[in-house]
Amino acid sequence: MSGDFSIQNIDNPDEKIVLLTIDDAPDKNALDMAKTLKELNVKAIFFVNGHFLDTPEEGEILKQIHKMGFPIGNHTYNHKSLRDLTEEEQRKEIVDLNDRVEELIGERPQFFRAPFGMNTDYSKQLAADEKMLLMNWTYGYDWEKDYQSKEALADIMVNTPLLRNGANLLMHDRKWTSEALGDIVKGLQNKGYKIVDPTQIETPANKETAAQ
Ligand SMILES: [Zn+2]
Repeated sequence: MSGDFSIQNIDNPDEKIVLLTIDDAPDKNALDMAKTLKELNVKAIFFVNGHFLDTPEEGEILKQIHKMGFPIGNHTYNHKSLRDLTEEEQRKEIVDLNDRVEELIGERPQFFRAPFGMNTDYSKQLAADEKMLLMNWTYGYDWEKDYQSKEALADIMVNTPLLRNGANLLMHDRKWTSEALGDIVKGLQNKGYKIVDPTQIETPANKETAAQ
């Protein structure tokens, strides 16, 4: 695995692939984004925060997204910078969210992405203990002022010089990202990229299951 956590196509090295990920979910747009992706028959990982899962209504949205076939990743409970927290606080941020997700969908997340992409040695150890694959990203733009519109974001996500085989694309639960999502998927596909099914990615948890 390389430094930006790109994805390698082991089975078919000639096929160009990208991974879609959606962070800070499920806020106001995640369910619509899941529906858009489902209509286009492609998958993404939804990295969720616990503070979006506190109420039964929010829990229902997560259940729906999971039922539509999307893997759920851990993006911590409160989206705090892990480097500012004690080990006990980091544990609560990470493990309590896995407990909450399991309570809702019956399984624990297999992917972990730290807020702001900033891990600590302890958070890396916790992710390993929880059998999660650590993820960062290759590129993303939807938090930058210049790209907070459907047109600008759809254009840069597909035409950036950073697009390459195995790229890990970061998006967020945002209105403009939701609006651009269909065009982003079609634009990537038009450039010959296949959207990876994240359930095909090897993680510490599924590696262990496969070995049994
Ligand atoms: Zn985030």
